[in-house]
Amino acid sequence: MNPDQLTAWLTRFADLVHAQRDALTALDSAIGDADHGSNMDRGMSAVVAALAEAPPDDAAALLKKTGTTLVSKVGGASGPLYGTLFLRMAGSIGDGFGPALRAGYEGVLARGKAEPGDKTMVDALGPACDVLDGGGSLADAAQAAADGRDATVPLVARKGRASYLGERSAGHQDPGATSTALLLQAAAETLG
Ligand code: ADP
Ligand code: MG
Ligand code: MG
Repeated sequence: MNPDQLTAWLTRFADLVHAQRDALTALDSAIGDADHGSNMDRGMSAVVAALAEAPPDDAAALLKKTGTTLVSKVGGASGPLYGTLFLRMAGSIGDGFGPALRAGYEGVLARGKAEPGDKTMVDALGPACDVLDGGGSLADAAQAAADGRDATVPLVARKGRASYLGERSAGHQDPGATSTALLLQAAAETLG
């Protein structure tokens, strides 16, 4: 995995987040505080700008810059969680994209303490990692993330702001699982 490939992936993710900004915020307005679209758009725009300003010359440094930029530009839950995902990926990208995504996922679990089924980004990321671990394609991983996103709708949230709503969180799609599905869609389109 070279830096140009990763830049293409992250740039595509930033574009998808920008295009879906209002939709992500609408999802967060139903079960959160109506800022997920603006949080992710601000963070990923800053990532693209940072990578363009001083392009890192290896994959690990690029992922590290991505993670630190997100942590510094995005508050709330998603900044530290996406930041951790990319920072942990940096440590394992030498093993390939699938193992790096798995390491990132484990970082998100450790940081956020969510489990599968808690109605979070974990519900899109975990199934995608399982597909890649099993030798599946990025397209299949993206489909698994989308299916995991869709499966958050009936769930009752047990982590994050949506958990404050208790049973009333059911019937709504999780914003973070939705942005994570875009992350995997971007990977399938640019790295597949
Ligand atoms: P905030 O909730 O601080 O406003 P965002 O709206 O940007 O942050 O992000 C909300 C998303 O973060 C949720 O939809 C959920 O997917 C994810 N999230 C929240 N808490 C956790 C957690 N503990 N573990 C994993 N993901 C979480
Ligand atoms: Mg929010
Ligand atoms: Mg917030």
